[in-house]
Amino acid sequence: MEGLCVNQAAQPRRLYVHTFGCQMNTYDSLRVQRLLAQDGYALTTNAADADVIFVNTCSVREKAEQKVFSLLGRLRRLKWRKPSLIIGVGGCVAQQLGSSLLERFPFVDIVVGTRALGSLPNIVRSVRSGAPRVAHLPDQDEEGWRELFGQTEAWVTDVVAPVTVMQGCDNFCTYCIVPYVRGRERSRPSREILQEVQLLVEKGAREVLLLGQNVNSYGKGLQEKTRFSDLLRLLAQETDVVRLRFTTSHPKDLTEDLIQCFVDLPQLCPHIHLPFQAGSDRILQKMHRGYSAEEYIRKVELLRGACPEISLSADVMVGFPGETREDFQKTLDLMRCVEFDALFSFRYSDRPYTAARLFPDKVSEQEKASRLTELQALQAAITLKKNLSEVGRTREVLVESTSKAGRGQMSGRTPQNRIVNLEGSQALKGRLIPVTITEAYAHSLKGRPVLPLRTSSGIGA
Ligand code: SF4
Repeated sequence: MEGLCVNQAAQPRRLYVHTFGCQMNTYDSLRVQRLLAQDGYALTTNAADADVIFVNTCSVREKAEQKVFSLLGRLRRLKWRKPSLIIGVGGCVAQQLGSSLLERFPFVDIVVGTRALGSLPNIVRSVRSGAPRVAHLPDQDEEGWRELFGQTEAWVTDVVAPVTVMQGCDNFCTYCIVPYVRGRERSRPSREILQEVQLLVEKGAREVLLLGQNVNSYGKGLQEKTRFSDLLRLLAQETDVVRLRFTTSHPKDLTEDLIQCFVDLPQLCPHIHLPFQAGSDRILQKMHRGYSAEEYIRKVELLRGACPEISLSADVMVGFPGETREDFQKTLDLMRCVEFDALFSFRYSDRPYTAARLFPDKVSEQEKASRLTELQALQAAITLKKNLSEVGRTREVLVESTSKAGRGQMSGRTPQNRIVNLEGSQALKGRLIPVTITEAYAHSLKGRPVLPLRTSSGIGA
């Protein structure tokens, strides 16, 4: 996400935020925006206008890290033109590289670790008043969540609002840097999450997306005995949220009580993102994933048995060290068996600290590229088939924003998380409306709102 576009009041100071990576980083960028709004910073979508630039980074994949370096290189010119500009870097790359980022990029003023975002306003203030450049990387979480409460005038939200409910990961998959840069699992107390969700709803959010690196193992380390399914039930019963989603789930932590939530809670959208990563048990074992292909398929059957309308998306990786053509074929077999509605596919790359970087039998880049192309072609056919099967159905769409598809169109999502473009104006934003699907494409649907849309309060369902 680039430049969170809100609240551009006539403030003397401007903040530009550039976010790389996952939705949890998007949430952290919102926190930065809210924290600095308390010091009078208004958001700008133009980096050249900014007094403070904050780059929120991701190092989960090598490519993401290279994009961060390339952006930082481009920011150098802005600092030359405006020496008072403060440039801060946060997120996983900041945590991983620490003060070496200050050496490599001498125009960067602030490096903050993943556990220290709450300190950012103080650090910005001290650098502004002449303190030296700083890398702040505490080992423990700093007070970070509660400072947001009681500052409601600084809160802005969109139709869909992310809320992080847990952070970190204890799984140590052998290819993944997350446990090293985000730390071990820790969860937020359920009452605190409930308070935040209700506040977001009061500020205009219709859908809340609950986030965590391993969201369905929520509750570890909390004094209260709350499972993730309990948290969902609490939010459904005690807030006015219209739609709930969550991501990312680990297959081994997908329990029957969580599956039952898809049956019992009307607010919970029938969609789950359940990364499988590989279809070969030999590779799954080397990845340290904690399930077999058969166990994964069994969980999918349980989900579909409980909630036949549920849609499934996943992450998959090609070219893990030692992956043979035969292993790769098993990944394709699993895809044919499950028929995911959407799939995010990646080439394996060595990441610092991880066990897999030392594994022998690395797959060549050429072979990885060829496997990825083959896999993506298979998924494209499955996704299109699934999208075509939507034509003629009427789905409830939450209208989120203007569409990228062209003028006079708005965009929203079905409960199954499919993007639908439809003709309409900004007046539809935030409305839940029944839409008949008329056309299907590779990545989206087109639909026609079912009339009548007019209500006593305007246009809407
Ligand atoms: S479950 Fe595995 S892939 Fe996911 S964040 Fe944890 S270590 Fe990384």
